[in-house]
Amino acid sequence: MAQKLTGSADVVILGGGSGGYACALRAAQLGMSVVMIEAGSLGGTCLHTGCIPTKALLHAAEIADSVREASTFGIEATLGGVDMTAVNKYKDEVVASLYRGLQGLVASREIELVAGRGRVVDDRTVEVELADGGIGTYRGEALVLATGSQPKSLPGLNIGGSVMTSDRVLELDHVPDSVVVLGGGVIGCEFASVWTSLGAHVTIVEAAATLLPTEDPWTTKQIERAFRKRGITLRTKTAFSGVTERPGGGVHVDLDDGSQLEADLMLVAVGRGPRTADMGFEESGVELDRGFVVTDEWLQTTVPGVFAVGDIVAGPQLAHRGFAQGMLVAEQLAGVDCTPVEDNGIPRVTYSNPEVASVGLTESEAAKQFGEVTTVVYDLAGNGKSRILRTSGGVKLVQAGPEGRVVGIHLVGERVGELIGEAQLIYNWQATAGDVAQHVHAHPTQAEALGEAHLALAGKALHAHS
Ligand SMILES: Cc1cc2nc3c(=O)[nH]c(=O)nc-3n(C[C@H](O)[C@H](O)[C@H](O)COP(=O)(O)OP(=O)(O)OC[C@H]3O[C@@H](n4cnc5c(N)ncnc54)[C@H](O)[C@@H]3O)c2cc1C
Repeated sequence: MAQKLTGSADVVILGGGSGGYACALRAAQLGMSVVMIEAGSLGGTCLHTGCIPTKALLHAAEIADSVREASTFGIEATLGGVDMTAVNKYKDEVVASLYRGLQGLVASREIELVAGRGRVVDDRTVEVELADGGIGTYRGEALVLATGSQPKSLPGLNIGGSVMTSDRVLELDHVPDSVVVLGGGVIGCEFASVWTSLGAHVTIVEAAATLLPTEDPWTTKQIERAFRKRGITLRTKTAFSGVTERPGGGVHVDLDDGSQLEADLMLVAVGRGPRTADMGFEESGVELDRGFVVTDEWLQTTVPGVFAVGDIVAGPQLAHRGFAQGMLVAEQLAGVDCTPVEDNGIPRVTYSNPEVASVGLTESEAAKQFGEVTTVVYDLAGNGKSRILRTSGGVKLVQAGPEGRVVGIHLVGERVGELIGEAQLIYNWQATAGDVAQHVHAHPTQAEALGEAHLALAGKALHAHS
């Protein structure tokens, strides 16, 4: 079909979130011309309603905890209250400054950013309802689909009023007294942690047997124990059956075991689904599976020259996975020697208090893949810096396979998200415990706990019983 084109480029990208903009930045760096179409705000979910604002809230929450616990360190301080307007101002300033930086970066690489809602109309051609009126048509030598994800709900569960998704609760101008968090995954655990620190009573309802059900059972046991200790009520193995708005405000929640909960609001955090409907994907031959775009390991869809990156590709929904995938597509298109992104090698962090971080396989996944496995758990009680911080938790290592590689690293404790950088190098460089054990870790750091765990796995535990 002959289209009158508004513009053409080496790469046209539909969606300017983590996956889309990473592809745009790398493609431009490699000398390609780029058009990026964005219906909302450049930066997408992660920058505006995901990673960044939630981590700002978690940091404010951590400060509230520090003030509350100050006297245990001999510091006299009292938590006078939480001013959510000021907390939101701080959060919004962080987002705004990163947004300005990203806009500047995109402009400096001469990427053409088109504001509007796009729809694939033909092979590698996108028709855009332009934000300032009219229609534009853009064709790429390659087309990259990067339209992201949106909050899911449950059958019959309507979002609105006091029943909210993460998008809406980020705008709350007060701390609720009580909250039901529906879903004990990453987003549910992070908000439960924030609200608890800010003084709310939180109940997490999770149909699966544990919180964070995809993590290693050792991890879930640790986080559940820590959450209970913080006063969070856990209703695992409990399905939600209905919610009604109370006449005077708040919600009444029915659970399938016949019990009920009353709260000021309910956060629905039951996962996020791919945003792929009504955008012409299937009509143009792009195959979908349960809404996700089907790709090969090179992120090539079923239509030659059309790629997909980020949350619309089934796998862990993480911003840094989107970055890596976006860069991979750009590099392929430029003929750069590159390798596919392996989902197991992507670090996963839940930034609650305590934090959970992992990379690689759980013990049971490793056993399934390799047969025999060896594991080691190093308790943070033996780690000087963790004692100083008064945090508990640990490091679990999973070793398997003929070369005795470390195939899974699981961490729980305050600030352990910062340790995942070393853990992911260990996993992705296919190190053995002996390889890691010979490297000296600074004392006293929490990173030392990783070193100690590898010493223990190599049979030469220092500050642990072997
Ligand atoms: C509360 C929350 C906390 C999170 N915390 C973390 C975290 O700490 N770390 C982490 O790694 N990940 C986190 N995530 C996940 C992370 O935000 C996503 O994995 C990431 O944003 C996915 O990037 P993406 O490019 O696939 O999609 P998105 O970021 O969703 O971007 C897609 C973009 O496409 C645009 N778009 C959609 N349809 C069209 C169309 N038809 N035309 C034009 N534009 C369109 C959208 O406006 C959007 O900007 C969090 C998510 C949430 C919701």
